[in-house]
Amino acid sequence: MSDKKDYGQYFQSTYEPDGNRKRPKTAEDVGYSQQEGKRRGKEEVMVVNFDPIPDELKCLGRERTYCIVTFGCQMNEHDSETIAGILEDMGYTATTNEREADVVLYNTCAIRENAEDRVFGHLGALKAVKLERPDMILGVCGCMSQDESVVNRILTTYQHVDLIFGTHNIHRLPILLRDAYYSKEMVVEVWAKEGDVIENMPKIREGGLKAWVNIIYGCDKFCTYCIVPYTRGKERSRLPEDVIAEVRELARQGYQEITLLGQNVNAYGKDLEDRDYLFGDLMDDISKIDIPRIRFTTSHPRDFDDHLVEVLAKGGNLVEHIHLPVQSGNTEVLRKMSRKYSREEYLELVDKIKRAIPNAVLTTDIIVGFPGETEEQFQDTLSLMEEVRYDSAYTFIYSPRHGTPAEGMEDDIPEEVKKERLQRLMSVVNRISREKNEALRGEIVEVLVEGESKNNPDVLSGRTRGNKLVHFVGPKDCIGKFVHVKITEPQTWALKGELMTRVEV
Ligand code: SF4
Repeated sequence: MSDKKDYGQYFQSTYEPDGNRKRPKTAEDVGYSQQEGKRRGKEEVMVVNFDPIPDELKCLGRERTYCIVTFGCQMNEHDSETIAGILEDMGYTATTNEREADVVLYNTCAIRENAEDRVFGHLGALKAVKLERPDMILGVCGCMSQDESVVNRILTTYQHVDLIFGTHNIHRLPILLRDAYYSKEMVVEVWAKEGDVIENMPKIREGGLKAWVNIIYGCDKFCTYCIVPYTRGKERSRLPEDVIAEVRELARQGYQEITLLGQNVNAYGKDLEDRDYLFGDLMDDISKIDIPRIRFTTSHPRDFDDHLVEVLAKGGNLVEHIHLPVQSGNTEVLRKMSRKYSREEYLELVDKIKRAIPNAVLTTDIIVGFPGETEEQFQDTLSLMEEVRYDSAYTFIYSPRHGTPAEGMEDDIPEEVKKERLQRLMSVVNRISREKNEALRGEIVEVLVEGESKNNPDVLSGRTRGNKLVHFVGPKDCIGKFVHVKITEPQTWALKGELMTRVEV
């Protein structure tokens, strides 16, 4: 692990190039500029192995605890597994108690303002704890730390924070922690430009049943409402042999379900210039690994090609759940969102998927109240719901995000109109979900049992291949196994049933 800083490559923190420290005052003082982040070049991405953590950094965690609080998407959850892996390699042990931990890291999300407000709430609440225990290290990482205005706000208002690091700097955590311990200043390291693909970072995965595997980092789609291309950088695919080796190893360890992760998994391979190998090829190769279930998220309809549909149609361990975000049912709104497909093209893709995979479980994401959305355009979204008949949908009210192109559009839909549209949308989505679930009454479904139900320890919960939540009464030794459940009581968001048999999958 190199301690050497290459000023030509990244924007950094408390050090001047001559090695002297300076006190950061603003994000620009610490060399961070979001504008730099937006000027994304075509620099070659290297695949780099994570170096073993040197002994002098490994001992930092001895008899110390850590707590990671994760906000946002599965990508962040998975990053937290990597951060935990690095910390445990340094000797730290996990705790869930933020107030008692020696290192508290907030792995943050920048997608919506309320997620940011929650992080600032946590930071404010820990100020008194930090005053009582000045040796604790309080850090902020994840997507919020890629935002210049957030870094400025922390530098000026939350000076009890010790460490800020970006989404491309996770592998530097041992060095940054060491700096945080020995520095009286806030340590800030946020690379404006995406880094390399770092392989073999340690990970702590919980549960031993389901695992996430990153296949691609970043996003090149630049949907106008979305901050992700700026916080996560350009698309960088992992090499197929590295992904396959990781999935094989997880199979060997007994994992039952793998979810391949990326902001746009369908773009996988497009940046691998030395080979003609895309997401369909990867899914085809992974389907040959002896692991019962393979999922993927998230898809972009524009990059969902025929070969992938063909491969998914083979079934087997490739489950039939496809999350296919549409965002709006109106072509003009989709154009303003820069989604790069029309309503007709999206419906054509759905039709292709349904013909190839008749039992496909389709889910989606929708935004209501995008700037300029008329009642007629919103009704196109409602009619698309009826046409596709999704099994479920995540529905959101549009709110502008700082730093996105849509921030410059007039947010002209009154809040009450947005809320009313959301209600109408949810009632359509929920009715269809209920109808879809009702169609499963009396059916026997395969369930991977994940554990006790959150509300009743006598009830077990698990998921179908289509990712539907199932509750049933059964012996605890079913946990971690596949069982057959007869659906007796379909509901809107879950299915209740009776245990039939255990299954060898
Ligand atoms: S595809 Fe669009 S919404 Fe998804 S991460 Fe990329 S820019 Fe954001």
